[in-house]
Parts: sequence; C-alpha cells; structure tokens
Amino acid sequence: MPRGPIDGKPALLGGAPVRTAKFPSWPVQDSLETGSLHEVLKSGKWGRGTGQAVNRFEAAYAAKMGTKACLATANGTSALLTTLSALGIGPGDEVIVPPYTFVATINTILQNFALPVFVDTDRETFQIDASKIERAITPQTAVLMPVHLGGNVADLDAILTIADKRKLTVIEDACQSHLAEWRGRKVGSFGRAGCFSFQASKNLNSGEGGAIVSNDEELIEQCFAFHNNSRGRKTSGTDFSYRQRGLNLRLTEFQAALLLAQMSRLDDQSRRRETNAAALTAMLGQIPGIAPAKSYANCTRNAYHLYMFRYDLAQFAGLPRSRFLQAMAAEGVPCSGGYSPLNREPLLKNVLMSKGYQRIYGEKRLKAWFEQNQCPVNDALCQEAVWFTQTMLLGEKSDMEQMAGAVARIQRHAADLAKG
Ligand SMILES: *Cc1c(COP(=O)(O)O)cnc(C)c1O
Repeated sequence: MPRGPIDGKPALLGGAPVRTAKFPSWPVQDSLETGSLHEVLKSGKWGRGTGQAVNRFEAAYAAKMGTKACLATANGTSALLTTLSALGIGPGDEVIVPPYTFVATINTILQNFALPVFVDTDRETFQIDASKIERAITPQTAVLMPVHLGGNVADLDAILTIADKRKLTVIEDACQSHLAEWRGRKVGSFGRAGCFSFQASKNLNSGEGGAIVSNDEELIEQCFAFHNNSRGRKTSGTDFSYRQRGLNLRLTEFQAALLLAQMSRLDDQSRRRETNAAALTAMLGQIPGIAPAKSYANCTRNAYHLYMFRYDLAQFAGLPRSRFLQAMAAEGVPCSGGYSPLNREPLLKNVLMSKGYQRIYGEKRLKAWFEQNQCPVNDALCQEAVWFTQTMLLGEKSDMEQMAGAVARIQRHAADLAKG
C-alpha cells in the first residue's frame, strides 16, 4: 500500500482528508440511453406488448442468465411476490430465509401470510449458514429462499442437496447478484426460480424493475398470469375468464429500453468491480482487525454489489464502529454499518401478533417463533460489518489505495480518535 494516504493526521482530528475527489457517479449513461428512451416515446407504445422492448429484454436476460425463460416485473419485490404466489405459497407455509438481507425478502413472505424462518448467518461470508438449515426444517417448510447477498453467493451445493433430499422448492433471491456465478453458472438459474431487482442502487438499473428467471417455462407462464391481473399470455383476445389470483406488476417499455441499454455496460462494469475488489482485498487483508467477506470455493464470480468486511474494534484501540464510520467519511471514503438484525425488527412482532397471523398459526406457535428464530452470529455480525457500495469499485486502482489507506490511517491514530 502506498504510504501517502496513511501518513498524516486523520481528517476528523484536523488533518487533510485522504481524498477529496468524488467516487464514480451512478448510473453511467449517454446517448445510448437517450436514444432508446426516445424510440419508445415516439412509438407511443409505452406498455408491454408482443415483440416490443420488454419482450426483447426478457429474451436477452434469459440468454444472459442461461435459463429457458424470464419474466420482467415492476421491481424485485414483485418478482419475489409473483414467484411465491404462482407457486401457491400461503398461510401455513414456512419459508427459510437468512436474517442478513433487505427487508423485501421477508415482506413478500408476510404478504402471503406465510411464516419466515430465519437461519443464522455464516460470519465469514455474510451468507446464510447452510449447515444450520436442516435443523430449521419442519413438516410445514415449503421453500428455501437463500439470498445471494452483496453480490456474493450462498452455498448452493449445500442448499440444493438439502432441497433435493427434503423435497423443498428453492427460490433464489438474487436481487443483488447480477452475473454472479457458482461453478461457472449464473446464480438465479439453480433454483426453481431466481429473482432480480433493477432498482436504482442495483448493479443493473432502470430506476425500478425486476425479473424472474427459470428453466420451468410453465412456472413462468403462471407468473405471467399473476403479474398480469390473472390473465395468461395464451388467453385469446375475447377470453376474459380469470383462473387464478393476480395483480398488475408489469414493467413498462421505458424501463425495458433502459435495461437493454444498461445491459450493454454490465459485463465491463462487473469486471471492473471484480478487479478493483481483488486489489482492495489484498490491501485490506494486511490490516489487522479488517476481515473482508470471503466467498465459498465454488463461487466462481462475485458481483460485488457491496464490498463487505468485518471491523474488529479491539485492533483499533477500542474505537467504536460508529466513530470509525465517521472517521472514514471525514477522509472522503464513505461507508456504512449495513443491516440491523432483520429477525429482531418490530415489523415482525407487529405482523406475527396481528389478528390474521394469530388465527392462522395460533398464539402458542407464534410465541415459540421468537425463541426459535434467534440468530446470535448474525447479531454479532451486524455490530461489526462495514460496507462500501458498488459504485466505489467502478473507478481506478488508486481509489482502492485511498480506501485502504484511509482505514490504515485511522488504525494508526485509533487511540487518539477514541479519546477525541
Ligand atoms: C433490492 C432487493 C430486493 C427488492 O428489490 P426492489 O427492486 O427494491 O423491490 C429484494 N431482495 C434483496 C436482497 C434486495 O437487495
């Protein structure tokens, strides 16, 4: 690591910040996006229709993910909701999830009055600890819903083996993991279905947007009907019989046009993140008390939606993480403390105590739920995690040197910072 950033007083104590330059802005866009949006605008066909941009995007995304079919949806939340609904997951069903994820993962389960069951996190990878899944399975378990968190990949070998043995459906929440791979194959293509988000912060972005990919074409047709207010694709123009539940969760042509344009940038951007992340890991790995998230051996590509590491304050003179985050921000290298434990959110208490849940599951079972859904490893991880966002990985190697340099500088002056 170059000495430059390390020497000097921390910015929080009056020194010059390691960095004053901005990190790359997001999203990246030029005349390509303007042109595709204009085309949709001029066509007057703004909603999805056969042979238009949404269809083209679905075909391109399925090809990219290596699946037989893809359905675009309004967002990642509706991709998950549509999949669960099409599979008939509802009251009485249990769905196994990690506690280290975005709240949408469980909101879609709660929306269908199913019961999320949390399995603790693997502290080294920040992913669901697959060795603890089997003991969480009950006769009510219907779905395993691993999340490939931060662009990293959950232990798919272990998860698929358990699912196979216990006859359970796997839905991959791949909302943060576009282009991530396991054994050389894209994530999202391993389970019965994989769900993606194209929300503004995600590595592929159309402001809002989502997709379901699957090799089960019949399932994608069920999903189509659900997301199209109960009307299937094969229904003729005059057949208005509705055969199942549904909502309107369609993507617009504008979003699909944006996605097609943004997709042409995705590979290069991903490679850049990977290269920069590797450099950053090499530098941060030398700093005592900093432990970058590891990947499992069969993760052959990490999409680095987030760059995640653990911060051990004992190696920083007891400097609390909150103060470390402040000091980093002052150096011009913003980072966050990431998620708080999802299984402890008041949301769960309120929903599980609601009339509907009490009626479906009974007071005794729901009381026991809180005991059974403790995740001590995840609780500890939530205290020590630190994240950089994906856009910070889109610049140059010198950016990585400054990011690691800021950490090293803070460590060198940790005792003073802890006092101040
Ligand atoms: C972003 C995200 C979602 C939801 O996607 P939206 O497009 O925001 O609805 C679901 N799960 C995870 C893990 C996410 O990161």
